[in-house]
Amino acid sequence: MAHIELKEVSRYYGERPAVMNLTLSIARGERLVLFGPSGCGKTTVLRLIAGLIPPDSGEIWIDGRLASRNEKILMKPHERNASMVFQDLALWPHMTVRENLQFALRFRKIPPGERENRIRETLRTMGMEEYADVKPSHLSGGQQQRVAIARALITRPRILLLDEPFSSLDLETAYRIRSEILKLQKELKFTLIHVTHDRDEALHMADRVAFMRNGKVVKMSGVEEAGAYFEELKKRVQGD
Ligand code: ADP
Ligand code: MG
Repeated sequence: MAHIELKEVSRYYGERPAVMNLTLSIARGERLVLFGPSGCGKTTVLRLIAGLIPPDSGEIWIDGRLASRNEKILMKPHERNASMVFQDLALWPHMTVRENLQFALRFRKIPPGERENRIRETLRTMGMEEYADVKPSHLSGGQQQRVAIARALITRPRILLLDEPFSSLDLETAYRIRSEILKLQKELKFTLIHVTHDRDEALHMADRVAFMRNGKVVKMSGVEEAGAYFEELKKRVQGD
């Protein structure tokens, strides 16, 4: 059974379609990259899968359950076991790192002692243990990004949605964090949907690449085929 299925999903903002009649099936533990130009609907797809917005039409199935249908959200984000790291980070600025993580756990039934253990463990995984009592404004961009990822991981999601997570980082930090995420994914085997418009990052992270344009997936490729397709695109643009 697919982990996540979109069936003829459309989503509009006013008259304007952001996602158009999208059908997509994602296997459990798969790493899918959504690749495409700005405005093609990548963030909207993540928000639909997370259950943050309903589709206007179509169905979303998660774990074999109907999660969204037409204009209704039938499974809440935490019922979907999905966490999203947003494009603009969006750490809560008035809270320390620990409080940010505590807040992410607010709807979970976890005993207080276990809660602290889990926070410590998750921060250790992202190499941020010593920053628990610091506020985000005192952290570098790379450190904030680690906290944002830690906050997404603390609920132990089965679906991790990453929206251009490295776009604000220097190359070296981006490389380091993406390797860490890949390692974690291989260990914990959550389903990863990763949005990027960096081809090198796409090829590094993906099992499959969904090429998007104007709210549609125009091509779905395994990672090797995607590499060849990128070359072809480059030649086409350069005109040689
Ligand atoms: P991407 O992440 O690929 O850049 P988005 O999913 O953010 O694309 O946006 C897809 C389209 O929907 C774009 O045309 C964008 O302008 C529009 N859009 C996205 N969010 C909103 C919103 N909250 N209100 C109005 N239009 C939106
Ligand atoms: Mg976006």
